[in-house]
Amino acid sequence: MALGTMPTRPALLVRIEDSDGCFGWGEVWANFPPRANLHKAHIIEDVVAAHLAGIRFVEPRDVQDALRRKLSVFFLHVGQTQVFEHILAGIDTALWDLALRAQGVSFAEHMGLSQASARSYATSINAEDLEELIPRHSGFGQTHFKLKIGYSERGDREIVERAAQLCPQNARIMVDSNQSWTPEQARACLRSIEDFSPFFAEEALPADAPRSAWEDLAKATDIPLAGGENIYGVDGFLSMAGAGLRVVQPDVAKWGGLTGALDLADALPADVLLWPHFMGSAVGQMAALSVSAAVGEASACEVDVNDNTLRTELCGDAIVIQDGFVRLPGGPGLVVPPDPAQLERFSEAN
Ligand SMILES: [Mg+2]
Repeated sequence: MALGTMPTRPALLVRIEDSDGCFGWGEVWANFPPRANLHKAHIIEDVVAAHLAGIRFVEPRDVQDALRRKLSVFFLHVGQTQVFEHILAGIDTALWDLALRAQGVSFAEHMGLSQASARSYATSINAEDLEELIPRHSGFGQTHFKLKIGYSERGDREIVERAAQLCPQNARIMVDSNQSWTPEQARACLRSIEDFSPFFAEEALPADAPRSAWEDLAKATDIPLAGGENIYGVDGFLSMAGAGLRVVQPDVAKWGGLTGALDLADALPADVLLWPHFMGSAVGQMAALSVSAAVGEASACEVDVNDNTLRTELCGDAIVIQDGFVRLPGGPGLVVPPDPAQLERFSEAN
């Protein structure tokens, strides 16, 4: 992956139970480093759980607000404000799942969606896998393919060119360089692939690059800029949209949970797309797909093309791509709960 070789595939799920015994599942981003899941699990157990016990809420946002009031200063003090955001995000998703299950409805029913399915797109395609994975995912009806580039300056155009030849007609390519470019590299690399009309370029600069660098890059390229997995808060996203991002990509396991993503969808200018970021287990993936379904067909949610049993086995076959779409769980609840036997298989007793 972009951050280095992954010796393991960590994940962290949170299960919250109410006083009636109803439960909900959420996911806290923990892809990296290798024991990020244990680190954040310990924080939840040692610091956060006591503040959840006995809390009353009407909407999941009430809990997020209450925990922020109680614990923001603590995480500021220990230098882990973004880790706190990841934890809040997972808790929010779990509370959505719990609340919907308690009411006996699915997310689609609760939201009054005419279509209980989400558009998806194929992502994280490495250069060495283009020939195998693009045809396979075209077969699932995918029309948008996101390539990992940015690690060999000379190779970027060659990767996009090869992918374009493998894609079905009318398909679109996107590129993700994972914050690896300087402004000069970003300008040069994007210019070199402009003739392939990529649908967007993701994280062409670091999320904390100066606003002027984002504005300059947006002016210098015809390719729409995208980003969001390292942006926090509605204001943070709106500010980046103002600096030139045309596609925002909140991650339900990193910031805001479902509440944050839906708030962001309401707040965005009409000409900015919301395409959820996601890279984790089936639990968070279902939540991310639900965001896309709520936004409508102008949105598509990323689904990793790489093998990941936490996505394909943990919750049974909850995520099936057909004609490019994934059906949302029929409910009640937001997600299909993990299969206990699979949970046992994957869990770490630490
Ligand atoms: Mg990315």
